[in-house]
Amino acid sequence: MRVDVTVLGAGIVGVCTALHLQERGADVALVDRAAPGEGASFGNAGLIERSSVIPAAFPRTAAMLARYAFNRVPSVRFDPLYLLKSTPALVSYWHNSSRLKLKSAIDAMLPLIEASIDEHDALIGPAGAEDLVRADGWIGIWRTAAKFAAVSGNLQGLKRFNLSYTVLDADELARVEPKIHTGQEGAVGGIHWHDAKTVTDPGELVKRYAELFVRRGGRLLVGDAAGLCASAGLWTVKTEELEVQARNAVIALGPQSAGLARRFGHSLPLLMKRGYHRHYRMDDAMPFHAVADQERGFVMSPMTRGLRLTTGVEFAGADAPPNPRQLKYAEAAAARLLPLGEPVEETPWIGVRPCPPDMRPIIGPASGTKGLWFNFGHAHHGLTIGPATGRLLAEMLTGKPTFADPTPYRPERF
Ligand SMILES: Cc1cc2nc3c(=O)[nH]c(=O)nc-3n(C[C@H](O)[C@H](O)[C@H](O)COP(=O)(O)OP(=O)(O)OC[C@H]3O[C@@H](n4cnc5c(N)ncnc54)[C@H](O)[C@@H]3O)c2cc1C
Repeated sequence: MRVDVTVLGAGIVGVCTALHLQERGADVALVDRAAPGEGASFGNAGLIERSSVIPAAFPRTAAMLARYAFNRVPSVRFDPLYLLKSTPALVSYWHNSSRLKLKSAIDAMLPLIEASIDEHDALIGPAGAEDLVRADGWIGIWRTAAKFAAVSGNLQGLKRFNLSYTVLDADELARVEPKIHTGQEGAVGGIHWHDAKTVTDPGELVKRYAELFVRRGGRLLVGDAAGLCASAGLWTVKTEELEVQARNAVIALGPQSAGLARRFGHSLPLLMKRGYHRHYRMDDAMPFHAVADQERGFVMSPMTRGLRLTTGVEFAGADAPPNPRQLKYAEAAAARLLPLGEPVEETPWIGVRPCPPDMRPIIGPASGTKGLWFNFGHAHHGLTIGPATGRLLAEMLTGKPTFADPTPYRPERF
């Protein structure tokens, strides 16, 4: 089968890339070894995070490093061997997390974050996914009065981002989110971020977007992208159904992307930040909003399967065996905020956030390899910015004016 573009990977990024290419007149095949939305796009915290304008930087204070050093918190865990193996990328991440460099990462990400809600909205209606998306924001909570006072007293630093939020003291928090314990053992206050939307089943959202792609005439095929090869100006990949050939191929395989790019001579650094989730049956104890514990570093999101508890970051190889400890710490910390019900799944889910060390995705043509394109490395923000980066890549590939300057994301920066 001959198409204009083959998109490899049907996570939020690949599906949105395929939809945007299609919208710009391209005949597109979308290839994944599994069903759409089964990777990290399935298991995230479900925040379309319009308010998280500051990328997750590497901790730079001695106090923070000391806190993570013992591997006993839900926010950060690490496999020492993985850290050793990833030293160059980690050093670069640390370097890019300085105050000055972080500012340029914020500026680089801003056009994508600012477009995130509009770009999702443009798909949610046509995909018939309104039932999966809520527009009442999320709440960050703090456990210690001094930390809460420091953060809420510094919010004027966010002024240039025009975010809508409400600072909630313990009483106000108890009114807005009565299921969360407040006071000494619980939360001392919170910030309600109103711009964000939340998704009650992120994997299903991706499937609905993929169904839209198919309804509009796109081809969704099952196949292993590892077999991608190039000859006579055509990119070929074998799928279960047939062999697909295209002048252009887009690698959007999330954490698996760097491996395939390397086969074609492109060495692109991606740190693996793994994360876990599990659902709990909550009945009447379900919180109304997604709630992020800003001090312990986990999120509790009301979802269709129950309350989804997602951990922070685990630095470990993508295929290393899961380690249940981080989720255990998150469960213990969450139980101080609300009575966690019975777990829905026996085994927690594990997924990977693919993170370039400069905290911005890799989007654009593979320099010197005709017809090969990249769209990956969405780190903590893939659900949020997938539709926006899909549009950007599609505009670049079809030679249309781009809605944002693609320079900060270009692959050849590495
Ligand atoms: C615990 C956790 C919480 C998160 N919370 C949020 C959040 O609240 N908001 C937010 O915006 N982001 C969040 N993220 C990040 C977000 O989930 C990711 O950035 C995003 O899902 C990445 O999407 P993707 O399409 O690039 O990758 P994926 O969703 O991983 O998709 C990659 C696809 O490639 C396919 N694939 C891989 N290898 C092959 C192969 N060889 N052949 C064929 N197909 C292949 C996979 O099957 C998969 O479908 C979170 C992540 C985690 C882990």
